[in-house]
Amino acid sequence: MRLEGFESDAPHRFLMVLKGSWTFIPVFVDQKRVPAPPPLHYEFAPKDEALNKQAQETFVSHMRGLADEWINTGRDASGEGEEPGKRMLTTGLKRIMSEWAAGNRPDIRFDESGELVVSMPVRKVNFTGDGVPIGPLDAAKQEAVRWFAGFLDSPYAYRLCKCRSCNEYYYTERRAKGWIEYGTYCPRHRHLASAMRSYEARQAPAQERRLDVAAQYWGKWPKSMSTDECKQLQWIAKKVNENVSLKWTPIRRNWVTLHGAEIETRNRALRGTLPHTARVKAAEGRIHAEG
Ligand SMILES: [Zn+2]
Repeated sequence: MRLEGFESDAPHRFLMVLKGSWTFIPVFVDQKRVPAPPPLHYEFAPKDEALNKQAQETFVSHMRGLADEWINTGRDASGEGEEPGKRMLTTGLKRIMSEWAAGNRPDIRFDESGELVVSMPVRKVNFTGDGVPIGPLDAAKQEAVRWFAGFLDSPYAYRLCKCRSCNEYYYTERRAKGWIEYGTYCPRHRHLASAMRSYEARQAPAQERRLDVAAQYWGKWPKSMSTDECKQLQWIAKKVNENVSLKWTPIRRNWVTLHGAEIETRNRALRGTLPHTARVKAAEGRIHAEG
């Protein structure tokens, strides 16, 4: 059995369209012959130019929408950091792709040599001929989903990036590993990311700065939270996020929990209390009382 998947250049044509190249965009309306220079003396042109243009624009914007939704699943809530390897289908994308898959079963046939060939429905699309049940705009949307399916079914799914500076789409050489703190930048703007990196390297490293801010606010939560430890931790996390660079990934309550001991130590140092004294005395008092 031979499996015929998407065309091998599908991811590249996908990228070209995302980048705004019209070369590979299909025509979605009936065409007519128009005079042209030799040797053919004619070429094909859309009968309804305006409708075709509208369908082609629908095709591009739909495809960009799918690509952006996919890329965004690898970005953190603040939209700064990014981990392309963590991308996954959102509920919305999953529904779109499942519907597409349900309506596009593979073809099964035998070739001349008698081999069974299973092929994806990659060449069946006929936008303008007889028996096409949907209009050009719907055809454009469906074709965008089909192209997206071909892209998803390739290693390029994790190599597609969108520049934070100019919004240009591009493929990376290989699949990026791990967390990219400043997000992804196209080759033309890569220097921006390194400028940010060196700027922040000159500042106190992020973790140190966060610990210091947390220590500053430790114990200063509003009285209404005096018995609610959960809210206290949340409040500290909020104060930390408010007082560090907006470019940094926001920390949450669990970060405060994780670093509680270190924050308390720094807080005592800030207040001029020697580490341990207060606590040790209190603990000793309890031990004596119990003993
Ligand atoms: Zn760029």
